[in-house]
Amino acid sequence: MNNDFVDLRSDTVTKPTPEMREAMAEAEVGDDVYGDDLTVNTLQEKAADMLGKEAALFVPSGTMGNLLAILVHCARGEEVICGDKSHIYVNEAGGMAALGGIFPHPIPNQKDGTLRLEDIRASIQPDDSHRTITRLVCIENTQNMCGGVVLSVDYTQQVGQLAKENGLKFHIDGARIFNAAAALSVDIKELVVPADSVMFCLSKGLVSPVGSMLVGSKDFIARAHRLRKMLGGGMRQVGVIAAAGLVSLEKMTGRLKQDHARAKNLYEALKQIPRLRLAAEPSSNMVYFDLDDSIQLTENQIVAEMKKHGVLVDWSAPRQFRLVTHYWVDDAGVEKTVKAFAKVLA
Ligand SMILES: *Cc1c(COP(=O)(O)O)cnc(C)c1O
Repeated sequence: MNNDFVDLRSDTVTKPTPEMREAMAEAEVGDDVYGDDLTVNTLQEKAADMLGKEAALFVPSGTMGNLLAILVHCARGEEVICGDKSHIYVNEAGGMAALGGIFPHPIPNQKDGTLRLEDIRASIQPDDSHRTITRLVCIENTQNMCGGVVLSVDYTQQVGQLAKENGLKFHIDGARIFNAAAALSVDIKELVVPADSVMFCLSKGLVSPVGSMLVGSKDFIARAHRLRKMLGGGMRQVGVIAAAGLVSLEKMTGRLKQDHARAKNLYEALKQIPRLRLAAEPSSNMVYFDLDDSIQLTENQIVAEMKKHGVLVDWSAPRQFRLVTHYWVDDAGVEKTVKAFAKVLA
């Protein structure tokens, strides 16, 4: 572990805590394909319970969790309404189409991360043999590419209502939904009530080394379980990883506001640096900004210069950077980052 670097590239860089490593070393395990791994079973029960759903499934990645949800809800030739800036549309290698024969129907993500209800309504296909069949609507909370923005309980309920009225299934890509719940100060159950399925990542702000959870009804999870096997995601003594996930649920979900507070501090301090164009105030753990045209350095030059100052950052689009706070970024790390940017862009 190199503690000299402040690493703001993502919250996926979070290495397991000593408590997690201890839990992993001592985990009770069994063959999870036989359902014999007690640690996995406990994790799945706890995740389902926390989200107020019947059942949960431990999966190797968020991408697999989202893919499983789409494959369970939709048949070949059916369609998913999703955001044009959503992870499932932009960043999952076209899995739904390539592996499921399922058609994404992207509609604009608004600045606040939402899909307009009227856009969703207008994109539901009519019953016409020329058309695909609309089966699923998917929202993302927090919405990553829109700035880690948080979708409200109210909005989620409205989407759920619309889905229900139109006979659609409703999936939430909740990779960072615990960040959303923390930002809103609500019990996560409230945020997912209307959803048929939810995926969330243990491996991001919740600090686990590997793994995501897919949550839904018993029947939904039974079908996802079979498909996980089909995709090669059946794992054996995987309690060694699930043990870290339990620490995530017990110890990490309650501290995310600290990451959000540090993101705000970072935002306020970076605003003081001339020629950085800060986007809206962060609503969770992500700070986005653009480079002023007067900055001659390329994105990669800035990355390299920041590294020399002991800070790892990454750009998210041409002339745009995204900084993500997490468990391993403390107040001193925020300060070091601001000083480094001031020097590099002086
Ligand atoms: C990270 C992420 C995923 C996928 O998770 P992986 O574990 O990286 O496959 C899905 N959706 C969103 C919004 C994410 O940020």
